[in-house]
Amino acid sequence: MTGIWWVRDDLRLHDNPALTAAADEGPVIAVHIDEQIEGVRPLGGATRWWLHHSLSRLGEQLREHGVPLVLVSGDPEQLIPQLVRDSGADSVRWSRRYHAPRRAVDARVKSALREAGVRAESFEGYLLHEPWTITTQAGSPYKVYSAFARACRAAAPPRPGIGIPSPLTGPADGVRAGGHEMHAWRGGAHVEQILDHRAWLPTAPDWAGGLRQTWTPGEAGARRKLDALEDVLDDYAEDRERPAVAGTSSLSPHLRFGEISPHEVWQRSLELGRGTGHDTFRAELLWREFAWHRLFQLPDLAHRNVRAQFDAFAWREDTEELHAWQHGRTGIDLVDAGMRQLWRTGWMHNRVRLVVGSFLTKNLRLHWRCGEQWFWDTLVDADEASNPFNWQWVAGTGDDAAPYFRVFNPERQQERFDPEGRYVRQWVPEIGTSDRDAPIVDLSASRRDALAAYEDVRGASGR
Ligand SMILES: Cc1cc2nc3c(=O)[nH]c(=O)nc-3n(C[C@H](O)[C@H](O)[C@H](O)COP(=O)(O)OP(=O)(O)OC[C@H]3O[C@@H](n4cnc5c(N)ncnc54)[C@H](O)[C@@H]3O)c2cc1C
Repeated sequence: MTGIWWVRDDLRLHDNPALTAAADEGPVIAVHIDEQIEGVRPLGGATRWWLHHSLSRLGEQLREHGVPLVLVSGDPEQLIPQLVRDSGADSVRWSRRYHAPRRAVDARVKSALREAGVRAESFEGYLLHEPWTITTQAGSPYKVYSAFARACRAAAPPRPGIGIPSPLTGPADGVRAGGHEMHAWRGGAHVEQILDHRAWLPTAPDWAGGLRQTWTPGEAGARRKLDALEDVLDDYAEDRERPAVAGTSSLSPHLRFGEISPHEVWQRSLELGRGTGHDTFRAELLWREFAWHRLFQLPDLAHRNVRAQFDAFAWREDTEELHAWQHGRTGIDLVDAGMRQLWRTGWMHNRVRLVVGSFLTKNLRLHWRCGEQWFWDTLVDADEASNPFNWQWVAGTGDDAAPYFRVFNPERQQERFDPEGRYVRQWVPEIGTSDRDAPIVDLSASRRDALAAYEDVRGASGR
């Protein structure tokens, strides 16, 4: 019998338990829904660009197996049962997701299908550990990374990958679909036509040139990055801090869209040997895990300070300064280099993300949500958990966050991590010329002001 694989952020054929379960039982129809869900932000510009290309590649991969990829837009609660009826499928399978509003949709779809006598099954595939499996002895979620990471390491280890399902086939007679878009899978070009119709690629202006040069969205690109892990892990512990060096995996957008499974990444790092670099790399994978576990508990992570004392904090509002920060025109070399790298490539080095985040929320004292929203629009790896989690971490408003009074000095950070100035000159070539912007803020005075503002909320809350 035919089964539907509801594709979400698991855009891969390798190590995909939901797809494998569907393929084990018979022909598969893949369905991706462009959903609008209340309480969930629409994708930003850079992730829309990525998803367009990733779906296009997935469509090509599936076509080689005769599996149709149906692309539809709208409400999954209506569309999934309709697709089941139209295609004659008897089961629907998907990889779980962890943000409460999405989980609510999935739960409603599942019960509607089951009431209609259709098998509906969800699978792990996005995280190493399901959030409800890593808890304290009292059964509560962890709020501190180090204890969380210890618990993950003590839990059942990530499993080996399960490869591409074999056989993987589509229905011999195609999809007997009623709706307009559901016919569209039949010719290969139709996936492209629907994607073009969605207008997810920028045209006027086309700002995606740097993204195209930097990235290959899709599973093949992800697997190439996985194979290149061996080039970075030995020196990862030191090189990951140097933005001028390609010392990290660049796997983040691929993990974001599920083009590679975290289990496979974890296993590969183990196969590549032992060492501080390997351990540090796995610790980073656990930061990703922690961010998702926190979002599972705190669905409002992108909107609400985890530490409520910051609700009274005296954030400033200044659109000109925000604009200067967004466009890499603050006159502070490392900050501008990072923001220009982000605009051009859709990615920024982690060390520099910390520095630009500290600068925005402390030296400029603009709300972390302004930075989070800009990253949401411009990062190719922007996700619902890691982005707000890390912003709250940098701003000091999250639990187990860097304290607010820890203000990074961008000049000291540059001396430490980009001592020859290679990174800053790559992105800000006018450094040292009369074209260079003057700093929009005095680093020492703004730091003092930030600490004074912090004292006010600290005093008020007695902490
Ligand atoms: C303000 C701010 C916002 C961020 N927003 C995002 C985001 O939206 N999406 C995102 O994936 N990462 C985010 N990060 C975390 C981190 O900067 C990126 O994951 C990392 O730079 C990606 O590069 P890489 O794949 O080469 O990482 P590597 O150093 O090779 O690390 C391997 C993987 O571990 C995970 N990882 C590493 N560091 C972190 C971290 N601090 N938090 C969560 N996961 C981590 C990523 O999945 C990454 O691909 C943010 C960090 C900051 C400071």
